[in-house]
Amino acid sequence: MTDVNAPTLLDDWLDQRLLVETGADGLYGRSALVERLVGCISRQVMRAGRDEQAEILRFPPLIARRHFEASGYFRSFANLVGTVHCFCGDEETHRALIRAHDSGQDWTQAQKASDLVMAPAACYPVYPAMARRGPVARDGMVVDACSYCFRHEPSRDPGRMQMFRMHERIYIGTSDGAEAFRARWIERAGALVERLGLPGSLAVANDPFFGRIGRVMARSQRDQQLKLELLVPLASDENPTACVSFNLHLTKMAQAFSLMLEDGEYASTACVGFGLERLALSVLRHHGTDEAGWPEPLRTSLADVASMLSP
Ligand code: ATP
Ligand code: ZN
Repeated sequence: MTDVNAPTLLDDWLDQRLLVETGADGLYGRSALVERLVGCISRQVMRAGRDEQAEILRFPPLIARRHFEASGYFRSFANLVGTVHCFCGDEETHRALIRAHDSGQDWTQAQKASDLVMAPAACYPVYPAMARRGPVARDGMVVDACSYCFRHEPSRDPGRMQMFRMHERIYIGTSDGAEAFRARWIERAGALVERLGLPGSLAVANDPFFGRIGRVMARSQRDQQLKLELLVPLASDENPTACVSFNLHLTKMAQAFSLMLEDGEYASTACVGFGLERLALSVLRHHGTDEAGWPEPLRTSLADVASMLSP
């Protein structure tokens, strides 16, 4: 929910050049300070998961359309999807496109959906990639993924961007393993947010599934507690913002991508997603922009990543 104070907060940060306007709501450049915070938080996620021997993978923020379709995301969140359209016409169509543009008409008619879709979450490319490798051992595996994600939700709430980074840990294995993974990361994320000096609270969540069938899905997600969120006040104290999400997918992703265990059962999957911009901006909202006044553990880990971003 967007708070009435959100635009003021955004304007302040734009004035201070912490974020840079691009001409589209929810699409901003980031200053070095924001990037250092993002880098520091991302590194803390890696540190918190050191014992898991995760496979670290980085994917571009796009996924193959057939994988996107298999995920079913467009059924539940049609309004958030960003498809990549490209020009595939001939010279005549090209001339028509330029004529349309120059006379103030819609020039995009000749753009056709390509075989790429914007990734809505960092974990989406992981499931098909792991499924290609064949069955997973019952001990399970953990993947560490981080990428920009796209969601078409233009807003002046600085916590609700259209392009933002999600750092995720993804578990693939048994259902007991998935629950243990999630419980472990609820603890770890709580400790991480505490080290940032932020007030966090855990809540059962439900996604804004699209349409009438969506309302039924939201209720079922809530009743089964498949999604929990760590909330931190960002634009509003009354309506804190989800900064970390903890998801159990049961065998939904495995069924979508034929992700099997060695014994022939579908795998269970879970993921924890850290919203890097939301966490970084929460630090600025709660501690201001003067690093000297920030909590000690935060300053120490920031010093680690400072060298990466100094000129
Ligand atoms: P919300 O309920 O606020 O829309 P969400 O439930 O859709 O968030 P997830 O799908 O669980 O969020 O995404 C994982 C994490 O990515 C969230 O916990 C949040 O930190 C971050 N995130 C999600 N949407 C946005 C956004 N529009 N801008 C910035 N960060 C986001
Ligand atoms: Zn995920």
